[in-house]
Amino acid sequence: MSTGTLIGSTAGIVAAAGAFAYAVRGRSSAVFGPSVYHGDRERPALALTFDDGPSESTPELLKILARHSVPATFFMCGENVQRLPAVAREVASAGHEIGNHTHSHPRLDFRTPEFIYREMAQAQETIQRHTNRTPRLFRAPYGVRWFGLRRAQQRLDLLGVMWSVIGNDWRWPADRVERLLVNRRRNGDIICLHDGRRTERSPDIHATLHAVQSAIPRILERGFRFETVSQILCPTK
Ligand SMILES: [Zn+2]
Repeated sequence: MSTGTLIGSTAGIVAAAGAFAYAVRGRSSAVFGPSVYHGDRERPALALTFDDGPSESTPELLKILARHSVPATFFMCGENVQRLPAVAREVASAGHEIGNHTHSHPRLDFRTPEFIYREMAQAQETIQRHTNRTPRLFRAPYGVRWFGLRRAQQRLDLLGVMWSVIGNDWRWPADRVERLLVNRRRNGDIICLHDGRRTERSPDIHATLHAVQSAIPRILERGFRFETVSQILCPTK
């Protein structure tokens, strides 16, 4: 093999690896199943989403949202719904949307289609049993999608949802998260925050609570309204 051919094929491999990484983790990728990451860019509406709950701190978040009549979307883990069914019901009865975030929050790459389906189906059943709601939205843990997800989404009638803004609320201080929420807004943004920490008990979500509490009135003042993910995707409903 000549040097030129070697360099050419190495570049090819690097490009293929890049394309594959995009397919697995890219927020706009729908390679492994139908997926969205933002709503209509013409309407001044935003969707707050909270992953990994419910947790012991979720009721406090519900109070903040209720104070401003802000609807949100909660991507719940089945394990946490089992652990805190009353909190999951409280989210549902406050009128928020509930999405599926798998049962135990595994990374889905290098897993079998059966494993992926079971994780999603188990969360779907647990959420239905405890909240009487059937999720229509699915968010993959860590945003990682894989072979078999498309079929699992079809069987469970779930649409994949990524995000256009990631809040970094699990690692940033509250004031930095707040600045991100207030300053980096575009019409139709789907904002990813967390009201739990995977399956951790009693997680510290103080930064999230503080940032959301301070940012909501400032965002409303700028003329945006908040909607659930389903509302932001289908404004007529
Ligand atoms: Zn998660």
